[in-house]
Amino acid sequence: MYCLTHTVAGGMTAGRLGHPVAAFFGGVISHLILDAVPHHDYKRIVLGVFDILLALGCLVFALWRPGFFPPAFAWGGLGGALPDLELVLRYLPGKDRPRFFPSHSGLVPHNRLAWPAGFWVQVAVVLAVSGLWYFF
Ligand SMILES: [Zn+2]
Repeated sequence: MYCLTHTVAGGMTAGRLGHPVAAFFGGVISHLILDAVPHHDYKRIVLGVFDILLALGCLVFALWRPGFFPPAFAWGGLGGALPDLELVLRYLPGKDRPRFFPSHSGLVPHNRLAWPAGFWVQVAVVLAVSGLWYFF
């Protein structure tokens, strides 16, 4: 899934746990779950950079206006997003880097869905987790 989706989902769900460590690891677990949901992944690095900037903007906004977000949103969001760091590092020059995170290494499912359906799945995830926070 997109970095922005992982950030928002991790922050809005695990961020509700309140404690930074619990929120962070809850975010990591949300990454595993979301990677199993059929979704679209982009292949172009420019889209990845744009995606990371959006996710960082989301984290900065949450730190700037914490009243709109669960108490440990930033920690949950970081936990949700950071596993994809190993995918970003693969774009750096040098030797081929192995993937360790279970949903990237093939240990647990990572299901794909073509554009545009795979994009709209992520819009639905973001709306669902945000609604979960605002309405419950
Ligand atoms: Zn991932």
